[in-house]
Amino acid sequence: MSATSQPTLFWFRRDLRLQDNPALRWAATQGNPVYCIYIHSDSADECCSGGASKWWLHHSLQALEISLQAAGSRLHLFTGDPEQTIEQIVTDTGATAIAWNRRYEPGSIKLDKKLKAHYTDLGLEVHSAPGNLSHEPWQVQREGKYPYRVFTAYWRASLKHPGLPVTPAVKKIPASVRNRKIKGECTLGKLDLLPDLPWAAQFPDQWKPGEKGAASNLRALLKSRISNYDTGRDLPAASGTSRLSPHLAFGEISPRQINAAVAAKLKNKTLAADENIETFLKEIGWREFAYHLLYHFPQTVAEPLDVRFRKFPWKKIRPDTLERWQQGNTGIPLVDAGMRQLWQTGWMHNRVRMVVGSLLIKNIGYHWKHGANWFLDTLVDADLASNTMGWQWVAGSGADAAPYFRVFNPVRQGERFDPEGRYVRQWVPEIAGLPDKHIHSPWTASPTELEQAAIIPGTTYPHPIVDLKATRVEALDRFAKIKAAVV
Ligand code: FAD
Repeated sequence: MSATSQPTLFWFRRDLRLQDNPALRWAATQGNPVYCIYIHSDSADECCSGGASKWWLHHSLQALEISLQAAGSRLHLFTGDPEQTIEQIVTDTGATAIAWNRRYEPGSIKLDKKLKAHYTDLGLEVHSAPGNLSHEPWQVQREGKYPYRVFTAYWRASLKHPGLPVTPAVKKIPASVRNRKIKGECTLGKLDLLPDLPWAAQFPDQWKPGEKGAASNLRALLKSRISNYDTGRDLPAASGTSRLSPHLAFGEISPRQINAAVAAKLKNKTLAADENIETFLKEIGWREFAYHLLYHFPQTVAEPLDVRFRKFPWKKIRPDTLERWQQGNTGIPLVDAGMRQLWQTGWMHNRVRMVVGSLLIKNIGYHWKHGANWFLDTLVDADLASNTMGWQWVAGSGADAAPYFRVFNPVRQGERFDPEGRYVRQWVPEIAGLPDKHIHSPWTASPTELEQAAIIPGTTYPHPIVDLKATRVEALDRFAKIKAAVV
């Protein structure tokens, strides 16, 4: 490093892209050399430490390195506590500025505030920019000061606020001298992100992590699938949704870029003129709402927003029962299909997420945290805000949640959204030979039908883990105990 250079550190986090990256753009246009860094920390990261996320992260960092090299830079990788690591990096590089895009998880907010205060005191310039949202969580509020708790009201209000603009792509990053190594940096392999067991073997067929993969998913959606999005998105057997969630979770694409691409497609038409696009943008709006809730109610990561649920009589965990749910061996076909899709691909269809969650919380009676933790470990799109909102929604204890008495019936859901059993047959092949009318409820098949389908109940496919009707009644009884609680 020359004596006159005043390097800037750009800290990549969940913004692994060069397009619409406001803090990177700022760093790259200051005229000083930029060190691009990524710090992996299992303990400090609130949603990047699950096995599936780590698989994604490995490949996303690989893709990012290629993009950075094309822009004349490179990625410096570190592992360890972010606070200490940044201190070492600042000392080693003599950096005079640090830039990052904001994150909104409670731990990240705390850390960012601490770092900002510390380095500003030391005389460094600290530049933070909007993170991976269309609106900052504090921008859309009722009367400008009260957070929304109901999605429709939030969504209507957000449409009236101009969304954050798209920042021009970063094409050239001034390099540090010879892109030199920083003390303590390591290789991608040393981050140890790939699983030891080959459970992620099918992931590469399903996913293309990185900015390019995200852009091609969006292009494919807007080119054709969008024309049937409104109905197609509810059918788990169809590829009707965008599958953008892991790309959004890792910040390989921003909702601002999505809005801009949609606006370009709509040309001069209004949003309401295209119900498929309107529905798609509303889904992105749910993600924004999740961040709004996480920011204003950070306690919901562990606590119910509806405080009556603090006294809810959750059942004691039996490890074998939890494991049957996790492994997709509940004997309830739609649930098993979803849990196996999750395990094998790192993703599950949204409707099925609601159904498997309802079975765990309401029929089995376990606290939603057990489901949320499993999802954070196994989803490639694991995201603290969306996952917390999703689980509290299913439990009935969050903002704008499904009422507790709404217990999803997995058989009815299957018959309605997978009427020919295509989804179930794909993921639960051992019952594929059943006629359509029994595919979602093998226990209703006659002995002859079971024999013809080569099914021995309890041997080749489990008996149902619970009696759906009886456990629904029990669930409603448990809820009645807290319903009247005065808060
Ligand atoms: P699309 O239907 O194409 O939707 C487009 C985008 O909108 C998604 O990529 C996602 O970013 C956003 N979105 C859609 N639905 C929701 C929603 N209900 N809440 C928040 N954002 C939404 N999503 C995650 O990204 N990470 C999670 O950890 C997560 N956990 C969930 C847990 C439960 C119990 C439930 C019920 C839902 C959860 N979701 C989570 C939301 C939703 O299931 C996924 O975002 C969606 O299935 C992703 O598929 P897609 O990209 O094809 O979605």
